[in-house]
Amino acid sequence: MRVVLTGAAGFIGSHLTTALLDRGDAVVAVDSFLTGRLANLQHVSDYDALTVLEHDVTVPLEVTGHVDAVMHFASPASPADYNAHPLATLDVGTAGTRSMLELARSHRARFLLASTSEVYGDAQQHPQREDYWGNVNPVGSRSVYDEAKRCAEAYTMAYCRAGLDSRIARIFNTYGERMRPNDGRAVPNFMSQALLGDEVTVYGDGSHTRSLCYISDLVSGVLLLLASDEHLPVNLGNDEEVTVLNLAQRILSLVGTDTSLTFRPLPEGDPHVRRPDLSRARAVLGWAPAVRLDEGLARTLLWFRSVIGGESRGASARG
Ligand code: NAD
Ligand code: UDP
Repeated sequence: MRVVLTGAAGFIGSHLTTALLDRGDAVVAVDSFLTGRLANLQHVSDYDALTVLEHDVTVPLEVTGHVDAVMHFASPASPADYNAHPLATLDVGTAGTRSMLELARSHRARFLLASTSEVYGDAQQHPQREDYWGNVNPVGSRSVYDEAKRCAEAYTMAYCRAGLDSRIARIFNTYGERMRPNDGRAVPNFMSQALLGDEVTVYGDGSHTRSLCYISDLVSGVLLLLASDEHLPVNLGNDEEVTVLNLAQRILSLVGTDTSLTFRPLPEGDPHVRRPDLSRARAVLGWAPAVRLDEGLARTLLWFRSVIGGESRGASARG
């Protein structure tokens, strides 16, 4: 296949690029480098089948030659990033999604949207199934991301009803190598802080929950979804749910530091519980995550240990 992948220089995009190239696909990697880095594609730079285009996907894009699939992963994804870039986040989810759908339509290509568990907002149904419509505050600080992704899903389904061959991945919290140490998310913050000997910042009392998926599992789920016939949204994530306090304690124990925890105010609109119902992914993709949290954290920590000296400090972005 020849795949146009937006957001390819970001965390998830860089792993997808690697997987696509490794299986023999050609990749047109499109990125504006708003939150991603060319360095994230350095390890695949010698592949002839990789083309990197610096481009803001809110601006229409023409790609010469055939295109089999457009995978739309461009968007700031960490709360600190989308709060720093609120309008760019709204634009990439709305205008950016529309222009990438047009690109797919013009090539009669398959389209896959990277949506998010944030479409469920501060969920009142637990675990979250795909037929739950969610509980999103349209004027809260997270709305620039949540509503943009909800709009992106609506755009995708509108094109789908008009004949486009589309897929929607609702991605739950994913972590792993090549996350930016200072992107403000829980895993990068906790690992950076613990490695630097800073206090580890738990927001609220730490009783709220997340269910974290290791990147290799997410990549295999996304590729199976791309190959499937499923047009409706599919949750992709790991259903091993932990409290944020427990996550911080696991990371402190893995790092082996006597650094302490500190509690900071819970940001406005922070969802209290999150766990995917994976029934649809199991049924239509035959997929389930394979990497347990402790194993994934250990692999991720190796990477954070290798880069932490050269990066800016992983200071809390919100505390
Ligand atoms: P990331 O910030 O590491 O990567 C996003 C990439 O998109 C960056 O390289 C950035 O430069 C690029 N980008 C942003 N706006 C752009 C624009 N207008 N034009 C071109 N490129 C642009 O984030 P990530 O964690 O890798 O997330 C990737 C995708 O997966 C996002 O769409 C995100 O919403 C979705 N997602 C991620 C998670 C997660 O836990 N990581 C969870 C749910 C959904
Ligand atoms: N969190 C925290 N301390 C940090 C960063 C995050 O307690 O330094 C919490 C955050 O409030 C949220 C959870 O960890 O409840 C996951 O945050 P992240 O930003 O990783 O993802 P999201 O909130 O988008 O699910």
